[in-house]
Amino acid sequence: MTERPVILIVDDVPANVQVLASCLKDKYHIKVATDGSRCLELVASKPAPDLILLDIEMPGMNGYEVCQRLKEDPATQNIPVIFVTANDQEEDEEKGLQLGAVDYITKPIRPSIVVARVNTHITLKLQHDKLTAMAMYDQLTGLYNRHYLFISANKKVARAKRHHEPVSLIMMDIDRFKAINDNYGHPAGDLVLQAVSKIISVQCREEDIAARFGGEEFVILYDHCDLKDAQIKAENYRLQIEEAKPEQITVTSSFGVVQMKPEGETVEDLIKRADLALYQAKENGRNQVVIAA
Ligand code: GH3
Ligand code: MG
Ligand code: MG
Ligand code: MG
Repeated sequence: MTERPVILIVDDVPANVQVLASCLKDKYHIKVATDGSRCLELVASKPAPDLILLDIEMPGMNGYEVCQRLKEDPATQNIPVIFVTANDQEEDEEKGLQLGAVDYITKPIRPSIVVARVNTHITLKLQHDKLTAMAMYDQLTGLYNRHYLFISANKKVARAKRHHEPVSLIMMDIDRFKAINDNYGHPAGDLVLQAVSKIISVQCREEDIAARFGGEEFVILYDHCDLKDAQIKAENYRLQIEEAKPEQITVTSSFGVVQMKPEGETVEDLIKRADLALYQAKENGRNQVVIAA
């Protein structure tokens, strides 16, 4: 079963919640909050809402304040908000839209209008999510792509430098991969890439950045990780990849491992040093881990 999009209804009057929920519940997974602070709690819990229907007049935090908070937080600012309110003055609507709401619906609620507007904004939200994912992830392997690696790695490296914390990076390249394609065919080569990527991602914590850097090259960035630990991780990967035999093919890989210098270093420089170490691993006969100078 495909998961239904999630709509969070926020209104202090249960009868209003009922009306909205009854016209949307067949198509959507409905969550309900009866005040602003509960709304902010629920947006942080899984499944996160794909759209919020937000009342304005509520005891405690009003809808405008809730919307403002949602739009200030990078984690929630992309969730579309539609105000559903009895406030029908032009300046109320203008204020709501200026705060970042995508739409403004006035009570009394006409269910068919609510459903139509919700459908439109859910479609846009899901398209946006899909494009965001395509911009972040490599299609074949599901790992992050090179573009996202640089964006997120720059942030991590800058933070680590500021807090004097260790950051390490592994660069990995599958050995003689061209021969795998030549001997077993390109589709088998793709399956090998997927199997190797799986080995990498299973070992990673959520905060690690594992990316497909190029064809059969991968980069993994670890914060709070020194050279010794990164070397152990690389050695583990090397062994697991050799033992995995995807498609009954023996696959080996070579690694360059590097830790950011104490005075700080750009991501490009880290990758450059890791690449030199990787080159050394290839020169030394492949299927090994080399620590960068
Ligand atoms: P080395 O041990 O020196 O790394 O040798 P290699 O053969 O692995 O390196 P080379 O750079 O000569 O070849 C990499 C090959 O990876 C060539 C390219 O066709 C293949 N490749 C790149 N992307 C993909 C892909 O998405 N799928 C498949 N099946 N092959 C790919
Ligand atoms: Mg109200
Ligand atoms: Mg290779
Ligand atoms: Mg290569």
